[in-house]
Amino acid sequence: MRSFRFQPIGTIRSCFTEKFGIPRQPGLVPEARAALEIGPPFDKAEAFRGLDAFSHLWLIFVFHACQGHAWKATVRPPRLGGNRRMGVFASRSGFRPNPIGQSVAKLLGIERRKGILRLRLGGIDLLDGTPVLDIKPYLPYADAIPEATAGYAPEAPAAMPVVFAAQAEAVCRNADPAAYPDLKVLIAGLLAQDPRPAYKQGHEGKPFGMRLWDLNIRFRVSSDRIVVESIGRI
Ligand code: SAH
Repeated sequence: MRSFRFQPIGTIRSCFTEKFGIPRQPGLVPEARAALEIGPPFDKAEAFRGLDAFSHLWLIFVFHACQGHAWKATVRPPRLGGNRRMGVFASRSGFRPNPIGQSVAKLLGIERRKGILRLRLGGIDLLDGTPVLDIKPYLPYADAIPEATAGYAPEAPAAMPVVFAAQAEAVCRNADPAAYPDLKVLIAGLLAQDPRPAYKQGHEGKPFGMRLWDLNIRFRVSSDRIVVESIGRI
């Protein structure tokens, strides 16, 4: 078999400092933002000429936190409650023969800060430190297929109601918006996706912790809602 070597063109800097809690697909939480920092020699302005006129991008990236795991022919998609197996090629799991992912992201801006070329992105599903192999503009006429069908994942999962206890509410209100932008909306949007590993399988009342930047978000899930109990530093 032939093999190929690819060099990442850049690295994702996102609020997601651990895998747990990251949306399972892009676009589900618009406030989940990231910067894609482009590394040399790819950070030439002309390599991005014309890109700012596109609202959305495809990112081709490496599931770097899945590396070193042997791939299996079947996986357990969270959409099926984690108890049914589907073929790895019928899934978007990161545990695949070549751990390559693809996500559509909203392009919020292109800027150079302290000499580093950065693409500001919204609605991402990417871990901090994700190596990006390529960027391509999203083409609605070719990429959006309104009549497409989607097997076991026909539409976005229903959102869970999320409520905040007083301490969590106060931390969000007082958080520095430069360091933790849209913190409350972000947490509410992420938890509404019900990040539990195999959701709807018990776990009721069990405490969970989700990490965002250097914050530990503690929450509990009851049958009909998620309660954010406290937010603290790690
Ligand atoms: N949209 C992509 C990813 C779908 S899987 C695709 O379809 O290819 C999304 C999950 O990948 C997230 O919930 C997160 O847990 C995981 N993930 C994101 N970045 C990752 C990384 N760099 N390494 C390993 N897993 C990652």
